[in-house]
Amino acid sequence: MSGAGAARTAELAAKVEAFVREIVIPYEQDPRHTSHGPSEALVVELKEKARAAGVLTPHILPDGSHLTQRETAMVLKMTGLSPFGPVACNTAAPDEGNMYLLGKVGSPEQRERFLRPLIEGRARSTFFMTEPAADNGAGSDPSMMLTTARLDGNHWVVNGRKAFATGADGAGIGIVMAKSEDGACMFLVDLPDPAIRIERVPQTIDSSMPGGHAIVKIEDLRVPSDQMLGQSGEGFKYAQVRLSPARLSHCMRWHGAVTRAQEIATAYVCRRQAFGKLLIDHEGVGFQLADNLIDLKQAELMIDWCASVLDSGAKGIGESSMTKIAVSEALFRVADRCVQVMGGTGLTGDTIVEKVFREIRAFRVYDGPTEVHKWSLANRIRKDALDRVAR
Ligand SMILES: Cc1cc2nc3c(=O)[nH]c(=O)nc-3n(C[C@H](O)[C@H](O)[C@H](O)COP(=O)(O)OP(=O)(O)OC[C@H]3O[C@@H](n4cnc5c(N)ncnc54)[C@H](O)[C@@H]3O)c2cc1C
Repeated sequence: MSGAGAARTAELAAKVEAFVREIVIPYEQDPRHTSHGPSEALVVELKEKARAAGVLTPHILPDGSHLTQRETAMVLKMTGLSPFGPVACNTAAPDEGNMYLLGKVGSPEQRERFLRPLIEGRARSTFFMTEPAADNGAGSDPSMMLTTARLDGNHWVVNGRKAFATGADGAGIGIVMAKSEDGACMFLVDLPDPAIRIERVPQTIDSSMPGGHAIVKIEDLRVPSDQMLGQSGEGFKYAQVRLSPARLSHCMRWHGAVTRAQEIATAYVCRRQAFGKLLIDHEGVGFQLADNLIDLKQAELMIDWCASVLDSGAKGIGESSMTKIAVSEALFRVADRCVQVMGGTGLTGDTIVEKVFREIRAFRVYDGPTEVHKWSLANRIRKDALDRVAR
Protein backbone atom coordinates (compact mmCIF):
# COMPACT_ATOMS: atom_id res chain seq x y z
CA MET A 1 0.00 0.00 0.00
CA SER A 2 1.46 3.41 -0.97
CA GLY A 3 1.92 6.06 1.74
CA ALA A 4 -0.84 8.28 0.33
CA GLY A 5 -3.17 5.30 -0.20
CA ALA A 6 -2.57 4.05 3.35
CA ALA A 7 -3.27 7.48 4.83
CA ARG A 8 -6.46 7.88 2.78
CA THR A 9 -7.71 4.45 3.82
CA ALA A 10 -6.80 4.99 7.47
CA GLU A 11 -8.86 8.18 7.39
CA LEU A 12 -11.80 6.35 5.81
CA ALA A 13 -11.54 3.50 8.32
CA ALA A 14 -11.54 6.01 11.20
CA LYS A 15 -14.64 7.69 9.77
CA VAL A 16 -16.41 4.33 9.48
CA GLU A 17 -15.35 3.37 13.01
CA ALA A 18 -16.76 6.61 14.42
CA PHE A 19 -20.03 6.06 12.55
CA VAL A 20 -20.44 2.47 13.76
CA ARG A 21 -19.54 3.28 17.37
CA GLU A 22 -21.61 6.48 17.64
CA ILE A 23 -24.60 5.80 15.39
CA VAL A 24 -25.00 2.04 14.79
CA ILE A 25 -24.21 0.61 18.23
CA PRO A 26 -27.11 2.50 19.90
CA TYR A 27 -29.40 0.68 17.45
CA GLU A 28 -28.32 -2.76 18.71
CA GLN A 29 -31.19 -2.91 21.20
CA ASP A 30 -33.76 -1.56 18.71
CA PRO A 31 -37.00 -3.61 18.90
CA ARG A 32 -37.08 -3.84 15.10
CA HIS A 33 -34.45 -6.60 15.19
CA THR A 34 -36.08 -9.96 14.45
CA SER A 35 -34.79 -13.53 14.48
CA HIS A 36 -34.39 -13.07 10.69
CA GLY A 37 -32.31 -9.92 11.00
CA PRO A 38 -33.18 -6.23 11.14
CA SER A 39 -36.57 -5.30 9.65
CA GLU A 40 -36.64 -3.60 6.24
CA ALA A 41 -37.60 -0.29 7.87
CA LEU A 42 -34.57 -0.52 10.15
CA VAL A 43 -32.28 -1.42 7.24
CA VAL A 44 -33.46 1.64 5.28
CA GLU A 45 -33.03 3.89 8.33
CA LEU A 46 -29.51 2.62 9.03
CA LYS A 47 -28.49 3.03 5.37
CA GLU A 48 -29.83 6.59 5.33
CA LYS A 49 -27.70 7.37 8.39
CA ALA A 50 -24.64 5.90 6.63
CA ARG A 51 -25.40 7.90 3.49
CA ALA A 52 -25.65 11.11 5.51
CA ALA A 53 -22.35 10.32 7.25
CA GLY A 54 -20.62 9.62 3.90
CA VAL A 55 -19.85 5.98 4.76
CA LEU A 56 -22.32 4.10 2.53
CA THR A 57 -20.54 1.47 0.37
CA PRO A 58 -17.16 2.81 1.52
CA HIS A 59 -15.17 0.05 -0.20
CA ILE A 60 -16.27 1.11 -3.71
CA LEU A 61 -14.97 4.45 -4.99
CA PRO A 62 -17.17 6.94 -6.90
CA ASP A 63 -15.61 5.84 -10.23
CA GLY A 64 -16.78 2.24 -9.56
CA SER A 65 -13.32 0.91 -8.72
CA HIS A 66 -12.81 -1.05 -5.49
CA LEU A 67 -10.36 -0.44 -2.69
CA THR A 68 -7.59 -3.01 -2.75
CA GLN A 69 -8.22 -6.07 -0.56
CA ARG A 70 -5.71 -4.77 2.01
CA GLU A 71 -7.55 -1.46 2.12
CA THR A 72 -10.92 -3.22 2.19
CA ALA A 73 -9.75 -5.15 5.27
CA MET A 74 -9.07 -1.91 7.15
CA VAL A 75 -12.55 -0.58 6.36
CA LEU A 76 -14.64 -3.77 6.67
CA LYS A 77 -13.17 -4.61 10.08
CA MET A 78 -14.56 -1.27 11.24
CA THR A 79 -18.01 -1.83 9.71
CA GLY A 80 -18.00 -5.15 11.60
CA LEU A 81 -17.60 -3.57 15.03
CA SER A 82 -21.36 -3.99 15.33
CA PRO A 83 -23.12 -6.99 13.74
CA PHE A 84 -25.38 -4.36 12.11
CA GLY A 85 -22.57 -2.09 10.87
CA PRO A 86 -22.19 -3.99 7.59
CA VAL A 87 -25.92 -3.72 6.85
CA ALA A 88 -25.82 0.02 7.61
CA CYS A 89 -22.68 0.68 5.55
CA ASN A 90 -23.70 -1.63 2.69
CA THR A 91 -20.71 -3.92 3.14
CA ALA A 92 -22.77 -6.93 4.26
CA ALA A 93 -23.05 -10.37 2.71
CA PRO A 94 -24.36 -11.30 0.22
CA ASP A 95 -24.53 -7.79 -1.33
CA GLU A 96 -20.82 -7.10 -0.98
CA GLY A 97 -19.87 -10.35 -2.79
CA ASN A 98 -22.59 -9.88 -5.39
CA MET A 99 -21.39 -6.33 -6.12
CA TYR A 100 -17.86 -7.65 -6.55
CA LEU A 101 -19.02 -10.38 -8.95
CA LEU A 102 -21.20 -8.03 -11.01
CA GLY A 103 -18.34 -5.54 -11.24
CA LYS A 104 -16.03 -8.27 -12.57
CA VAL A 105 -18.34 -10.27 -14.85
CA GLY A 106 -21.40 -8.10 -15.64
CA SER A 107 -21.81 -6.39 -19.03
CA PRO A 108 -22.10 -2.57 -19.01
CA GLU A 109 -25.91 -2.88 -19.35
CA GLN A 110 -26.08 -5.44 -16.53
CA ARG A 111 -23.93 -3.28 -14.30
CA GLU A 112 -26.16 -0.27 -14.91
CA ARG A 113 -29.36 -2.19 -14.22
CA PHE A 114 -28.34 -4.58 -11.42
CA LEU A 115 -25.12 -3.24 -9.89
CA ARG A 116 -25.91 0.45 -9.62
CA PRO A 117 -28.94 0.05 -7.26
CA LEU A 118 -26.80 -2.18 -5.03
CA ILE A 119 -23.90 0.27 -4.85
CA GLU A 120 -26.33 3.09 -4.14
CA GLY A 121 -27.91 1.05 -1.34
CA ARG A 122 -31.34 1.24 -2.97
CA ALA A 123 -31.81 -2.55 -3.19
CA ARG A 124 -30.65 -5.73 -1.49
CA SER A 125 -29.63 -8.88 -3.33
CA THR A 126 -29.47 -12.62 -2.82
CA PHE A 127 -27.36 -15.49 -4.18
CA PHE A 128 -29.13 -18.76 -4.99
CA MET A 129 -26.56 -21.56 -5.11
CA THR A 130 -27.15 -24.05 -2.29
CA GLU A 131 -30.05 -26.51 -2.61
CA PRO A 132 -32.02 -28.36 0.06
CA ALA A 133 -30.20 -31.30 1.67
CA ALA A 134 -33.56 -33.12 1.56
CA ASP A 135 -33.32 -33.10 -2.27
CA ASN A 136 -29.62 -34.12 -2.11
CA GLY A 137 -28.82 -30.98 -4.09
CA ALA A 138 -25.78 -28.68 -4.16
CA GLY A 139 -24.25 -28.04 -0.73
CA SER A 140 -20.63 -28.63 0.19
CA ASP A 141 -20.37 -30.14 -3.28
CA PRO A 142 -21.78 -27.54 -5.72
CA SER A 143 -21.42 -30.00 -8.64
CA MET A 144 -24.47 -31.82 -7.22
CA MET A 145 -26.63 -28.95 -8.51
CA LEU A 146 -30.10 -30.07 -9.52
CA THR A 147 -31.60 -26.76 -10.70
CA THR A 148 -31.88 -26.77 -14.49
CA ALA A 149 -31.76 -24.08 -17.17
CA ARG A 150 -33.16 -24.84 -20.64
CA LEU A 151 -32.98 -22.47 -23.62
CA ASP A 152 -36.37 -21.68 -25.15
CA GLY A 153 -36.06 -19.14 -27.97
CA ASN A 154 -34.38 -16.08 -26.50
CA HIS A 155 -35.27 -17.04 -22.91
CA TRP A 156 -33.85 -19.47 -20.40
CA VAL A 157 -36.36 -21.51 -18.40
CA VAL A 158 -35.14 -22.31 -14.88
CA ASN A 159 -36.58 -24.92 -12.51
CA GLY A 160 -35.41 -26.15 -9.08
CA ARG A 161 -35.29 -25.46 -5.36
CA LYS A 162 -32.74 -23.44 -3.41
CA ALA A 163 -31.89 -23.27 0.29
CA PHE A 164 -30.15 -20.83 2.64
CA ALA A 165 -30.64 -17.92 0.23
CA THR A 166 -29.55 -15.13 2.56
CA GLY A 167 -31.72 -12.06 2.20
CA ALA A 168 -34.01 -13.53 -0.50
CA ASP A 169 -37.02 -12.34 1.48
CA GLY A 170 -37.08 -8.63 0.67
CA ALA A 171 -34.34 -8.67 -1.99
CA GLY A 172 -34.77 -6.69 -5.23
CA ILE A 173 -32.07 -8.54 -7.19
CA GLY A 174 -31.12 -12.22 -7.37
CA ILE A 175 -28.29 -14.24 -8.86
CA VAL A 176 -29.55 -17.74 -9.66
CA MET A 177 -27.21 -20.65 -10.35
CA ALA A 178 -28.51 -23.50 -12.54
CA LYS A 179 -27.16 -26.16 -14.86
CA SER A 180 -27.59 -25.94 -18.64
CA GLU A 181 -26.34 -28.52 -21.16
CA ASP A 182 -23.01 -26.63 -21.08
CA GLY A 183 -22.66 -26.78 -17.30
CA ALA A 184 -23.28 -24.25 -14.53
CA CYS A 185 -24.75 -20.84 -15.40
CA MET A 186 -25.64 -17.67 -13.53
CA PHE A 187 -28.69 -15.54 -14.16
CA LEU A 188 -29.59 -12.05 -12.99
CA VAL A 189 -33.21 -11.62 -12.00
CA ASP A 190 -35.44 -8.91 -10.60
CA LEU A 191 -37.16 -9.86 -7.36
CA PRO A 192 -39.77 -10.58 -6.23
CA ASP A 193 -40.84 -12.81 -9.12
CA PRO A 194 -43.91 -15.06 -8.91
CA ALA A 195 -41.83 -17.90 -10.40
CA ILE A 196 -39.49 -17.76 -7.36
CA ARG A 197 -41.66 -18.60 -4.37
CA ILE A 198 -40.37 -18.50 -0.81
CA GLU A 199 -41.42 -21.79 0.79
CA ARG A 200 -40.20 -20.83 4.25
CA VAL A 201 -37.45 -19.01 6.14
CA PRO A 202 -36.10 -21.48 8.75
CA GLN A 203 -34.99 -20.37 12.19
CA THR A 204 -31.20 -20.28 12.24
CA ILE A 205 -28.60 -19.75 14.97
CA ASP A 206 -27.62 -16.35 13.54
CA SER A 207 -29.83 -13.26 13.26
CA SER A 208 -27.93 -10.30 11.78
CA MET A 209 -28.71 -10.67 8.08
CA PRO A 210 -31.92 -9.05 6.82
CA GLY A 211 -34.43 -11.52 5.39
CA GLY A 212 -32.85 -14.56 7.06
CA HIS A 213 -31.98 -17.56 4.87
CA ALA A 214 -34.87 -18.70 2.68
CA ILE A 215 -35.81 -21.96 1.01
CA VAL A 216 -37.35 -21.17 -2.38
CA LYS A 217 -39.00 -23.05 -5.21
CA ILE A 218 -38.21 -21.88 -8.73
CA GLU A 219 -40.89 -22.91 -11.19
CA ASP A 220 -40.66 -22.12 -14.90
CA LEU A 221 -38.74 -18.92 -14.29
CA ARG A 222 -38.24 -17.27 -17.71
CA VAL A 223 -35.04 -15.22 -17.92
CA PRO A 224 -34.19 -13.23 -21.08
CA SER A 225 -30.88 -14.44 -22.57
CA ASP A 226 -29.21 -11.08 -22.01
CA GLN A 227 -29.69 -11.58 -18.26
CA MET A 228 -27.25 -14.49 -18.22
CA LEU A 229 -24.15 -13.41 -16.31
CA GLY A 230 -21.16 -14.21 -18.53
CA GLN A 231 -21.24 -17.39 -20.59
CA SER A 232 -23.28 -20.61 -20.37
CA GLY A 233 -21.26 -23.34 -18.62
CA GLU A 234 -18.87 -20.91 -16.88
CA GLY A 235 -20.92 -20.53 -13.67
CA PHE A 236 -18.52 -22.36 -11.37
CA LYS A 237 -15.64 -20.26 -12.69
CA TYR A 238 -17.58 -17.10 -11.78
CA ALA A 239 -18.50 -18.60 -8.40
CA GLN A 240 -14.76 -18.85 -7.74
CA VAL A 241 -14.31 -15.18 -8.75
CA ARG A 242 -16.82 -14.33 -6.05
CA LEU A 243 -15.87 -16.88 -3.42
CA SER A 244 -12.26 -16.04 -2.49
CA PRO A 245 -12.86 -12.32 -1.86
CA ALA A 246 -16.32 -12.98 -0.38
CA ARG A 247 -15.04 -15.46 2.17
CA LEU A 248 -12.19 -13.08 3.02
CA SER A 249 -14.64 -10.22 3.56
CA HIS A 250 -16.57 -12.41 6.03
CA CYS A 251 -13.28 -12.81 7.92
CA MET A 252 -12.82 -9.03 7.93
CA ARG A 253 -16.31 -8.19 9.20
CA TRP A 254 -16.36 -10.90 11.86
CA HIS A 255 -12.89 -9.89 13.00
CA GLY A 256 -14.41 -6.50 13.81
CA ALA A 257 -17.34 -8.05 15.68
CA VAL A 258 -15.13 -10.31 17.78
CA THR A 259 -12.77 -7.42 18.54
CA ARG A 260 -15.79 -5.66 20.00
CA ALA A 261 -16.75 -8.76 22.01
CA GLN A 262 -13.23 -8.73 23.46
CA GLU A 263 -13.66 -5.06 24.42
CA ILE A 264 -16.93 -5.83 26.21
CA ALA A 265 -15.50 -8.89 27.98
CA THR A 266 -12.45 -6.87 29.05
CA ALA A 267 -14.65 -4.14 30.50
CA TYR A 268 -16.66 -6.78 32.39
CA VAL A 269 -13.67 -8.51 34.00
CA CYS A 270 -12.07 -5.19 34.92
CA ARG A 271 -15.24 -4.19 36.79
CA ARG A 272 -16.54 -7.46 38.26
CA GLN A 273 -15.09 -8.97 41.44
CA ALA A 274 -14.94 -12.55 42.75
CA PHE A 275 -13.03 -14.01 45.69
CA GLY A 276 -11.83 -10.60 46.85
CA LYS A 277 -10.39 -9.24 43.62
CA LEU A 278 -11.26 -8.22 40.09
CA LEU A 279 -11.81 -11.10 37.67
CA ILE A 280 -8.95 -9.81 35.48
CA ASP A 281 -6.59 -10.44 38.41
CA HIS A 282 -7.44 -14.15 38.38
CA GLU A 283 -4.87 -15.82 36.16
CA GLY A 284 -7.47 -18.16 34.63
CA VAL A 285 -9.40 -15.14 33.36
CA GLY A 286 -6.42 -13.03 32.30
CA PHE A 287 -4.95 -15.91 30.32
CA GLN A 288 -8.20 -16.32 28.38
CA LEU A 289 -8.10 -12.67 27.32
CA ALA A 290 -4.42 -13.02 26.46
CA ASP A 291 -5.22 -16.04 24.28
CA ASN A 292 -7.89 -13.90 22.64
CA LEU A 293 -5.36 -11.20 21.80
CA ILE A 294 -3.09 -13.79 20.21
CA ASP A 295 -5.92 -15.34 18.18
CA LEU A 296 -7.12 -11.91 17.04
CA LYS A 297 -3.64 -10.87 15.93
CA GLN A 298 -3.03 -14.15 14.10
CA ALA A 299 -6.41 -13.79 12.38
CA GLU A 300 -5.57 -10.22 11.36
CA LEU A 301 -2.24 -11.32 9.89
CA MET A 302 -3.88 -14.16 7.95
CA ILE A 303 -6.47 -11.72 6.54
CA ASP A 304 -3.77 -9.25 5.46
CA TRP A 305 -1.66 -12.03 3.96
CA CYS A 306 -4.55 -13.42 1.91
CA ALA A 307 -5.59 -9.89 0.91
CA SER A 308 -2.06 -9.27 -0.42
CA VAL A 309 -2.23 -12.49 -2.43
CA LEU A 310 -5.53 -11.41 -4.02
CA ASP A 311 -4.15 -7.90 -4.62
CA SER A 312 -1.26 -9.45 -6.57
CA GLY A 313 -3.83 -10.71 -9.09
CA ALA A 314 -3.70 -14.36 -7.98
CA LYS A 315 -6.95 -16.25 -7.41
CA GLY A 316 -5.86 -17.21 -3.91
CA ILE A 317 -8.03 -20.33 -3.76
CA GLY A 318 -5.74 -22.23 -1.37
CA GLU A 319 -4.81 -19.10 0.57
CA SER A 320 -8.45 -18.09 1.07
CA SER A 321 -9.29 -21.64 2.18
CA MET A 322 -6.49 -21.56 4.77
CA THR A 323 -7.55 -18.09 5.89
CA LYS A 324 -11.22 -18.99 6.13
CA ILE A 325 -10.42 -22.02 8.29
CA ALA A 326 -7.90 -20.29 10.53
CA VAL A 327 -9.90 -17.10 11.01
CA SER A 328 -13.35 -18.65 11.54
CA GLU A 329 -11.94 -21.16 14.04
CA ALA A 330 -9.85 -18.53 15.86
CA LEU A 331 -12.72 -16.06 16.05
CA PHE A 332 -14.99 -18.78 17.39
CA ARG A 333 -12.49 -19.54 20.17
CA VAL A 334 -12.30 -15.84 21.04
CA ALA A 335 -16.08 -15.40 21.07
CA ASP A 336 -16.45 -18.51 23.23
CA ARG A 337 -13.88 -17.25 25.77
CA CYS A 338 -15.62 -13.84 25.86
CA VAL A 339 -18.89 -15.57 26.76
CA GLN A 340 -17.11 -17.67 29.39
CA VAL A 341 -15.34 -14.87 31.26
CA MET A 342 -18.60 -12.94 31.43
CA GLY A 343 -20.40 -15.77 33.22
CA GLY A 344 -24.20 -15.68 33.01
CA THR A 345 -24.15 -12.16 31.55
CA GLY A 346 -22.23 -13.48 28.54
CA LEU A 347 -25.15 -15.74 27.74
CA THR A 348 -27.78 -13.01 27.80
CA GLY A 349 -28.87 -10.57 25.14
CA ASP A 350 -27.84 -7.70 27.44
CA THR A 351 -24.60 -7.35 25.49
CA ILE A 352 -23.77 -8.17 21.89
CA VAL A 353 -21.31 -10.91 22.95
CA GLU A 354 -23.90 -13.71 22.93
CA LYS A 355 -25.03 -12.68 19.45
CA VAL A 356 -21.47 -12.51 18.11
CA PHE A 357 -20.88 -16.04 19.44
CA ARG A 358 -23.94 -17.34 17.55
CA GLU A 359 -22.96 -15.50 14.35
CA ILE A 360 -19.45 -16.92 14.37
CA ARG A 361 -20.79 -20.44 14.87
CA ALA A 362 -22.65 -20.11 11.57
CA PHE A 363 -19.55 -18.67 9.87
CA ARG A 364 -17.73 -21.97 10.46
CA VAL A 365 -20.24 -23.55 8.04
CA TYR A 366 -21.11 -21.04 5.31
CA ASP A 367 -18.79 -20.16 2.43
CA GLY A 368 -17.37 -23.66 2.81
CA PRO A 369 -17.32 -25.62 6.08
CA THR A 370 -13.92 -26.00 7.73
CA GLU A 371 -13.70 -29.70 6.76
CA VAL A 372 -14.40 -29.01 3.08
CA HIS A 373 -11.62 -26.42 2.91
CA LYS A 374 -9.24 -28.84 4.69
CA TRP A 375 -10.24 -31.60 2.31
CA SER A 376 -9.53 -29.41 -0.74
CA LEU A 377 -6.16 -28.41 0.76
CA ALA A 378 -5.36 -32.09 1.37
CA ASN A 379 -6.19 -32.81 -2.29
CA ARG A 380 -3.66 -30.16 -3.31
CA ILE A 381 -1.02 -31.62 -1.01
CA ARG A 382 -1.65 -35.06 -2.49
CA LYS A 383 -1.51 -33.79 -6.09
CA ASP A 384 1.69 -31.79 -5.51
CA ALA A 385 3.35 -34.79 -3.84
CA LEU A 386 2.38 -37.18 -6.63
CA ASP A 387 3.50 -34.66 -9.27
CA ARG A 388 6.88 -34.42 -7.55
CA VAL A 389 7.23 -38.21 -7.57
CA ALA A 390 6.29 -38.36 -11.26
CA ARG A 391 8.95 -35.76 -12.19
C1 LIG B 1 -26.17 -18.72 7.77
C2 LIG B 1 -25.97 -19.31 6.41
C3 LIG B 1 -26.05 -18.49 5.28
C4 LIG B 1 -25.91 -19.03 4.02
N1 LIG B 1 -26.08 -18.23 2.90
C5 LIG B 1 -26.08 -18.78 1.67
C6 LIG B 1 -26.42 -18.00 0.51
O1 LIG B 1 -26.70 -16.80 0.61
N2 LIG B 1 -26.46 -18.62 -0.70
C7 LIG B 1 -26.15 -19.93 -0.84
O2 LIG B 1 -26.20 -20.42 -1.97
N3 LIG B 1 -25.82 -20.71 0.24
C8 LIG B 1 -25.79 -20.16 1.48
N4 LIG B 1 -25.50 -20.93 2.58
C9 LIG B 1 -25.23 -22.34 2.40
C10 LIG B 1 -23.82 -22.76 2.76
O3 LIG B 1 -22.92 -22.31 1.82
C11 LIG B 1 -23.87 -24.29 2.93
O4 LIG B 1 -24.53 -24.52 4.16
C12 LIG B 1 -22.52 -24.93 2.91
O5 LIG B 1 -21.95 -24.89 1.64
C13 LIG B 1 -22.62 -26.42 3.34
O6 LIG B 1 -23.56 -27.09 2.60
P1 LIG B 1 -24.68 -27.95 3.35
O7 LIG B 1 -25.32 -27.10 4.37
O8 LIG B 1 -25.57 -28.56 2.32
O9 LIG B 1 -23.87 -29.07 4.13
P2 LIG B 1 -23.56 -30.55 3.64
O10 LIG B 1 -23.08 -30.53 2.22
O11 LIG B 1 -24.71 -31.41 3.97
O12 LIG B 1 -22.31 -30.94 4.56
C14 LIG B 1 -22.48 -31.21 5.95
C15 LIG B 1 -21.12 -31.35 6.61
O13 LIG B 1 -20.41 -32.45 6.02
C16 LIG B 1 -19.02 -32.23 6.17
N5 LIG B 1 -18.37 -32.42 4.87
C17 LIG B 1 -18.86 -32.16 3.64
N6 LIG B 1 -17.94 -32.45 2.70
C18 LIG B 1 -16.85 -32.90 3.36
C19 LIG B 1 -15.56 -33.36 2.95
N7 LIG B 1 -15.19 -33.38 1.66
N8 LIG B 1 -14.69 -33.75 3.91
C20 LIG B 1 -15.03 -33.71 5.24
N9 LIG B 1 -16.23 -33.27 5.67
C21 LIG B 1 -17.11 -32.87 4.75
C22 LIG B 1 -18.84 -30.80 6.70
O14 LIG B 1 -18.60 -30.85 8.10
C23 LIG B 1 -20.19 -30.16 6.44
O15 LIG B 1 -20.47 -29.10 7.35
C24 LIG B 1 -25.63 -20.41 3.86
C25 LIG B 1 -25.53 -21.22 5.00
C26 LIG B 1 -25.71 -20.69 6.26
C27 LIG B 1 -25.63 -21.60 7.46
